[in-house]
Amino acid sequence: MIIAVDGPTASGKGTIAKALADHFGLPHLDTGLLYRAVGRQVMLSGGEADDPRAALAACSFPDSLLADPDLRTEETGGLASRVSVHPAVRQALFERQRAFATQAGGAVLDGRDIGTVIAPDAAVKLFVTASVSARAHRRWLEMQGREPAVTLDEIERDIARRDARDMGRADAPLRAAPDALVFDTTHFGRDQAVAEAIAAVEQALRSSGSA
Ligand code: C5P
Repeated sequence: MIIAVDGPTASGKGTIAKALADHFGLPHLDTGLLYRAVGRQVMLSGGEADDPRAALAACSFPDSLLADPDLRTEETGGLASRVSVHPAVRQALFERQRAFATQAGGAVLDGRDIGTVIAPDAAVKLFVTASVSARAHRRWLEMQGREPAVTLDEIERDIARRDARDMGRADAPLRAAPDALVFDTTHFGRDQAVAEAIAAVEQALRSSGSA
């Protein structure tokens, strides 16, 4: 059983995907981390994220890079968003994600194009969203320990810029699959979002006869 969780940055999709994986006893892949590793590798190699050749070369990043705490910074998120527009980069990361999705027993993947491109055959698709200001506020709270100098305004602008880039790109733009359940977390705290998402997925599985 594949569960696809898509949505914009700081929507809560990562937290929800992890909780679904725990609840259903499935392995979980945060596909954003792969794009972040490519973005960071371009920078480490002295290349430009907007250069498709440099970005493609960076897809051969070492696996150890996935444990680098710098992958979680806003700067790396911006680089990830820039390398992810190149079709060759998306192609290079496709097989790895598809293999994870189709492993025996199933999997939960979160990202931007899981329900539309990586696993259009997923048993359940959730599209997690929230208002830009709610997402910026969450990201700001989360960053107080790590990058306290960043202001709420800067984060809000950065989120709006990344949304525009992720939704506007020609290849695999961020959008809900037609058969996705759209799940708005604007007015939910973390625990409520997780509980409601689990209930929604269980309900979807019951109605499709998969559970
Ligand atoms: O989810 P996260 O913020 O870690 O993703 C970083 C960037 O990677 C996103 O802004 C998006 O541009 C890109 N991405 C993507 N497709 C995915 C996952 C992430 O294009 N499946």
